[in-house]
Amino acid sequence: MLERLEEEGFEAYVVGGCVRDSIMGLPAHDYDIATSAMPVETKRVFGSCRIIETGIKHGTVTVLYKGSCVEITTFRIDGDYLDGRHPASVEFSADLLDDLSRRDFTINGIAYSPLRGFCDPFFGARDITLKTIRCIGDPEKRFSEDALRILRALRFEAVIGFDIEERTRSALLAHKSDISLVSKERIFSELKRLICGKFAKRVIIEFSEVFAQIIPEIGAMINYDQGSKYHNSTLLEHTARAVEAAPEDSVHLRLAMLFHDIGKPLCRTTDENGECHYYDHAAISAKIADEALRGLKCENALRERVCEIIRLHDMPIENSERFVRRQLSRRGYELFCDIIRAEIADNSAKIPEAAERIPLLLDVLELAEKTDAEKTCVSLRSLAVNGNDLKSFVPPSAVMGEILSQLLEEVIDGKIENEKRVLLKRAREIFDSKK
Ligand code: ATP
Ligand code: MG
Repeated sequence: MLERLEEEGFEAYVVGGCVRDSIMGLPAHDYDIATSAMPVETKRVFGSCRIIETGIKHGTVTVLYKGSCVEITTFRIDGDYLDGRHPASVEFSADLLDDLSRRDFTINGIAYSPLRGFCDPFFGARDITLKTIRCIGDPEKRFSEDALRILRALRFEAVIGFDIEERTRSALLAHKSDISLVSKERIFSELKRLICGKFAKRVIIEFSEVFAQIIPEIGAMINYDQGSKYHNSTLLEHTARAVEAAPEDSVHLRLAMLFHDIGKPLCRTTDENGECHYYDHAAISAKIADEALRGLKCENALRERVCEIIRLHDMPIENSERFVRRQLSRRGYELFCDIIRAEIADNSAKIPEAAERIPLLLDVLELAEKTDAEKTCVSLRSLAVNGNDLKSFVPPSAVMGEILSQLLEEVIDGKIENEKRVLLKRAREIFDSKK
């Protein structure tokens, strides 16, 4: 694609994340192109491709090329930022250096073209070697222009494990309250990526104040001594460890762990031995999470899933077929597995003795997978009889529903086989006993 623009007399480079990732030896997941061509010229050059004019005002044209979406943006100078999140205007430029100067961090300010080589005026490649996240230009100014960059810095630390350089770090802390100027959707999108990072724990601990800016209840977790023999760290540290212990690719579990104990400071009681208890903390945490996620404009299905996991995260778990079948019937396979995974993450973040429970939880998870794969009957849908089969001797009344439910319960408990003949016989018995 770069050649096509170059053939027409324009400069064109890949920039940003894909250059950073390829220098780091990571696969690039999307390509951004910066060019001296104006948006109308880009559209002309790629006239034969499908084009989406997503950000044309800001100079961005999305081109569908060989099955993937490539964003092509004209070299740009951002005007003044008057609201802490958007430039009031943008100006197109013929100079790549202008375009690289408006970018957030040195590691994201490298351009590459096979024809022209690397352009790295802010020494981004050096910072990649140093594993450093450093603002381009004056950090104070850069964070006051767009406070989302604060979360982007934290997200890059959490995902790629680089350290934030000292001046960048103190400027972002000084500007943390400007995050309130940023749209909730942009905040939540960065937050999700941040907590899914391989290095999320250290970022949550190191920048807890920034988190408290987004979710105020996190403030009470900082330095909070849980007063419990099961815990060897503060509530915030336990939370950060639990987040990182949940699977990286599972945003709902990571969110659930972020909030799972957030209600604890609101429901602490102390017994005669000085041991602290937190009755009902799961329900209270779920309520806080529900409100926080609504505020962050989280989509409903994700919010509901996260809150269910939090509400049930300390549920007693038994390693028995009957228990697993009952749970699958009551909660469904996905939710039940999520609850166990949350308990595994929670137990990995307590004293070492708590981790001794993990093998049992893994066994239950395996049992749930097996039960689900065998299509064992756990719902009325998979019961070998339905209302039609019983209607010759049971009138279509409330009794019908009761009989079917009782049959299902007996099948789940392993008392009878899920087999039509057996179920019909048993249905008659139940019906007769009700007469
Ligand atoms: P990834 O694609 O992994 O999220 P990325 O660095 O490509 O990482 P994008 O959001 O795709 O991030 O942005 C592409 C490039 O645009 C960045 O590398 C950076 O140069 C620039 N950029 C993005 N957001 C901002 C911002 N808020 N302020 C300044 N520059 C930004
Ligand atoms: Mg990108």
